[in-house]
Parts: sequence; C-alpha cells; structure tokens
Amino acid sequence: MLEVTDVRSGYHGLEIVHELSLTVAPGEIVAIVGANGAGKSTTLKTIVGEVKRFGGSVVFDGKPVVTGRSFDLARAGLMLVPEHRALFGSLTVEENLQMGTWGKRDRVGFSEEEILDLFPILRERRSQLAETMSGGQQQMLAIARALMGAPRLLMLDEPSTGLSPKLTWEVFHAINAIRERGVSILLVEQNAGQVLELADRAYVMESGSVVLEGTGTELAADERVQSAYLGV
Ligand code: ATP
Repeated sequence: MLEVTDVRSGYHGLEIVHELSLTVAPGEIVAIVGANGAGKSTTLKTIVGEVKRFGGSVVFDGKPVVTGRSFDLARAGLMLVPEHRALFGSLTVEENLQMGTWGKRDRVGFSEEEILDLFPILRERRSQLAETMSGGQQQMLAIARALMGAPRLLMLDEPSTGLSPKLTWEVFHAINAIRERGVSILLVEQNAGQVLELADRAYVMESGSVVLEGTGTELAADERVQSAYLGV
C-alpha cells in the first residue's frame, strides 16, 4: 500500500532523513519510534510531500507521490494527522467533523455515527468549541475528523502527546478498531512502550536513519530497544 524507498529529505538543503525505506501493507499498523529529533515527523511530512525529497521514491497504492502535492494525496486516501492536530479551534466538534469530508470523493468509510461510537466523548460534546476541549479530546477529534474523509492509510504524528497512559490506551484502542475496519495505520511515537504493543511492525529511527526493524513483539524484547527506549 505504501512503499518508501531510499528517501532522503530535509530542510534548506540540509539532509535530516538518510536513505530511509519502509513499507505499510494493507490492514497493518506500523510504528516509527525514536527519540526527540530523530526525524520521525520529517519522515511523515516527506511521505505526504510537505517536506522536499532530495532522493528516493514514495509510492502510494502503486502511484508515485510527487513532492508538494499533499492535496492530491488526501484525495487518494492518504491522510496525515499532524502532531499539532490542526483543528479549527473556534469551530464546534460537529463543524470540525464536517470539514473532514472534503477529500472523501466516492470512497466508502466510516459513517459519522460509527466514528462517534469510536469516540463517545465527541458525541457528548458535539456542539462544544474544539479549542475548549482537553488535549486528549482534541486528539480524538483530529483522528475522527481524518476518518470523515474515508482514508485508506492514516498517518498519525505522536497521537499520545500530552495524554496520560490511560488516555493513550483509549486512543490506541480506537486506532486498533480503525485498523480492524481495513484502514492501514502508520504512526510515529516517542512513547515506545505502549506503541510496540499496538503495532504489528515497527522501525526504530536514530539520527535520521532506520537502525532496527521488526515486529512490535520482537522490538519490545530487543535489549537495545529496552535500554534506549523502554527504560529497562
Ligand atoms: P519530535 O519528537 O521532536 O517531533 P522527530 O523525531 O519527529 O522529533 P523531527 O521533528 O523530524 O524529529 O526533527 C528532526 C530534525 O529536523 C531536528 O533536528 C529538527 O530540529 C529539524 N527540523 C524539524 N523541522 C524543521 C524545519 N521546519 N526547519 C529546519 N529544521 C527542522
């Protein structure tokens, strides 16, 4: 579904991501874990064409992705929920959800009621302004809004940022339910402990490169991962 091959990218000519390759198969949850500044967000932004690629290729659904055309990509069903969530703060929950439908085209995805079943708190707060909600609720709204566009691959940048471990589990539980409906997931996390339990496969990034990859279970058992990311 997504094939990233030998991608190099960065800012102002400075290479941050080096020869990075990764894949996401249909129905998979794939995680990229790594410390602050390892280049995880830059990788996601490069995939959607927001950050310029210096080399390598990104292929989504058999079609090459062209840098600078993230608009087309959302229409093709690849959606990124950025770390800062990019909600419309002065609009209500319901209005934010409606804004999510623009790229949907004729794809069939979740109905609004199904999305609200995944995130019941949003149903209770349908008429509340997004900016007055807690961080966890805003994260749920950002994911819910992306689902309104019927994505086939959903990319999430640090969905646990600012959330307690309990709320993180709630969000991860919803992510798993989304995958069970056939949507592939690529997510980036510093919080390796919880995400390795969720992910089918994961990549560990250090200084802009993938240094390890494996199933979530394999990586959680790996001594290097345990000492660097799991505090063991
Ligand atoms: P974080 O958890 O902090 O988001 P990350 O692994 O996602 O970490 P990136 O945000 O991709 O890391 O940052 C990787 C490197 O790129 C850092 O050195 C950062 O300073 C640099 N960087 C990120 N955004 C920009 C930008 N817009 N202009 C220049 N350099 C940037």
